[in-house]
Amino acid sequence: MRTQRQVVDYSLRRRALLRELVAGRVGTYDLCDASPYLKNAARFHGEPTDQRCPICRSENLTHVHYIYGDELKQSAGQARTVAELSMLAMTLREFQVFVVEVCLGCDWNHLVEQYLLGRDGLTESEAEHEAAGGVAAAAAGANAQRRREAQR
Ligand SMILES: [Zn+2]
Repeated sequence: MRTQRQVVDYSLRRRALLRELVAGRVGTYDLCDASPYLKNAARFHGEPTDQRCPICRSENLTHVHYIYGDELKQSAGQARTVAELSMLAMTLREFQVFVVEVCLGCDWNHLVEQYLLGRDGLTESEAEHEAAGGVAAAAAGANAQRRREAQR
């Protein structure tokens, strides 16, 4: 998504956890504990992936996108489809998205990443671009002025 920013990737933590499992330091019982709410969210708002579940290897993972932010009011903490996220990103200034992967087969679930979405991302980068251009133009103007003075 165009306005996606401040991405935090949790894949290292995920890999570390899976290593712990292989080493027998944690059990699948501890890791495969998706709540009924999370599984419902995955069924109704989830985004299917072609990624196999790392635990049972029989189901593909589903990504659930949870949204948080003051502007969302009572919708904060709810799951949204990717299409709904794009709509919100165009109308709201800023909100936080948490992506959780879920296996509907064995209940494995883990935080994948988090990021910010919203119109602020667009206006900020555009504003920065404008400001940088303005400063450069002003500097160029000052240099030209100095050169003209030096020639006198
Ligand atoms: Zn699974």
